Parts: sequence; C-alpha cells; structure tokens
Amino acid sequence: MEKKEDTKAKRPRRQEQERASEEVSEVARDVLRIQLPISLPGLGHVNCYAITDSEGATLVDPGLPTPSSFKTLELRLKQAQLKIEDIHTVVVTHSHPDHFGGAGRIVARSGAQLVAHRSFSLGLQTDDTPEISVNDLEAHRHAESGYQTEEGVERQRAREPFTPKPPRWSGKTPWGGTSPRPPLKMRLRFRLMGWMGRAARFPAITRPAFGGDILKLGGREFFVVHTPGHTEDHICLHDPAEEIFLAGDHVLPTITPHISGMTRNPDPLKAFFESLDEAAAIKHVSQVLPAHGHPFDDLAKRCHAIKQHHEERLDHVREIARDLGPATVDAFMHKLFKPRSWGGMAASETYAHLEHIRQLGGADAHRDSDGLLVYEL
Ligand SMILES: [Zn+2]
Ligand SMILES: [Zn+2]
Repeated sequence: MEKKEDTKAKRPRRQEQERASEEVSEVARDVLRIQLPISLPGLGHVNCYAITDSEGATLVDPGLPTPSSFKTLELRLKQAQLKIEDIHTVVVTHSHPDHFGGAGRIVARSGAQLVAHRSFSLGLQTDDTPEISVNDLEAHRHAESGYQTEEGVERQRAREPFTPKPPRWSGKTPWGGTSPRPPLKMRLRFRLMGWMGRAARFPAITRPAFGGDILKLGGREFFVVHTPGHTEDHICLHDPAEEIFLAGDHVLPTITPHISGMTRNPDPLKAFFESLDEAAAIKHVSQVLPAHGHPFDDLAKRCHAIKQHHEERLDHVREIARDLGPATVDAFMHKLFKPRSWGGMAASETYAHLEHIRQLGGADAHRDSDGLLVYEL
C-alpha cells in the first residue's frame, strides 16, 4: 500500500521489495524480525516483530489473512522455539490487511489480547464513538494520577473492546466520480476472509489504545505514539530504555507511504507532516524497526527526507496547475503520476495534496456541472 519515491530506471531493487527471507534475526534485545510474504505493488514482504518475554511473546503486525502467510508465521515462530499458543498480545500498527490480517487466526488459537488505536477503522463509515481529539499524552497523565475529567470518562468508555466493521467500496469519492476500489486481488482477499470463517474475520480490538499509553509487555514499557497520516489509526511503539522505535508504515527506509485522501481527516497530509515532526523529535531512538525493509538508525533524518519528498510533490502540483488552469483531480493525477500508476490510489493521493494546498489558502475549489471538484490554484 505504498508507492515508490521516484521512478529512475535500472536502479537496484529496493529493500522493501525483497522477497520474505526465511531468516529470523534478533534485531534488538528480545525482538525478532520475522518476514512474511506479501506481493503488493512495491512490496515483497512485511516485517512481523516478535517481542519475547518470560510469558511468551507479543507479535507486532502479523501479516496477511491468507493461510499461506499464517503457515509461514508458524514455521518462523518454530525456528525461534515459539508457537502460536505462546502469543499473549498482538499489536496492529494500522488498518491495512498486510498488517492486521493474521490477527484473527492468532487470537482464535491463543486468546491473545489485540491492541490497536481506538480509531482503528476498516472503511470510511463514521464511528459511533468519535475519536477524542485531545492531547493524548496529557490525558494519559491525568488517567495515571487518577484525576477524572469529563474527557477521562469519555475515554474510559472509548476503551471498551469493539469490532471494526468490514469496509464498503461503493458510492462517490469526495472529489466526485466513482469510488477508487482497491486492487481486484485485495478485494477477493476480503471476500475470501468472509468464507474462511471465524478465524479469518475482523477480530475485536480488545485493548483500544491512545497515543501516550504505556503498553507493559514482559517487564518492558512501550509508549504508544499515534501517528495519523498514512492511515488515521496508525500507531508506532517506542521503548526508550532499549532505544527502539517500531515504525509500522509511518517511516519506511527507502519508500514513502501512500497518503490517502479517503479518510475522515480533512487534511491527511497535514496530519502526516505533524506525525513526522513528532516522530523526528523523539529522543532515545537508536534503532528504527519498519514494517517493510531493513532496520535503520536515524529516525529524524528519514522523517525529514519524507517530508521533503512531499514538499517537492506539492511544488510539482503547483507547477502542473500553472499549465492546466482550473482542473479536476483526475486531470492533476494524469500529470502527477505515470500512466501505470493511474487509478484510485493515485487519485486519492492527488486529492490529499490538492486539499492540503487549498487548506493552506493556495487554491479554490468548486464543483462543475458533473459534480466533480475543480481546483484552481
Ligand atoms: Zn499501510
Ligand atoms: Zn504496509
């Protein structure tokens, strides 16, 4: 669900594209990197991290919902003298199938608690319990000290387990036209999940998390860092004692995550920039563990590079606007992306960039007679 940063010909294969290796390596103290197979545009594996402790293990991002991914996971765990039944906690960094898909089977087998952000959502449906937009860290301190604010009470309610609703791909996009559907392969996978029964269905989030929460896992403390942008519900985990940062798809080594305009956030790109700033400012990080590609060390540097990439894209959109004049999202997309990338994801990302410019005051938008948004920069 990510796209390439640029498209230079004949460059070596990117690390995120490498096929899943059979090797299970200890990338930090009691943290194992397990690579699970996926084949999505630009991605050849997803990293599932196993954090081991005296009671068993926690898995972060247990791969796709397919039987073959689950089988691979079982094999790799066996290499590390672990089995599914040892998994007491599953953490899902965000609502993409290559990250949460394996959770259902694991929970069914081991009864593991399932941790994800409270806003975890598989579609665009409005949530019954709206996301609480307070400073997560501040609220956490209040909760720790036993101080009950009204927000605290609401938050308590928001901590109750919930089951995300399956996604729907119908209706109109915010910019007019038809809804961008995910690739056929992925739609079939979602359908398959329905047939495969209980184990593969969307599991209940038994431990909804907020940014600033502390997850105690086997005597270690991980801070939950809410990093909306790639998805609204994205979280990272930070262990300041061991100086490790589990980055999910928020910060990847050589590619930039896809930024979707199809979220409840009116300006997802702004949210992403803020989340990058937040991650870059975190102290006590010497090892970044991304969901795709190899571990790396300089979190702040990579955050700045990704921000820079999007600033350049925004400049490119402004240049395109000078040539095009008033134009639809699709017209911008055709200039911004290569033809092989045209489609729902590219349109959605184009829309996110145009909306960011508009909300900065750099563009106007109106609907034409067909209901399509027309941007004028
Ligand atoms: Zn993702
Ligand atoms: Zn991913």
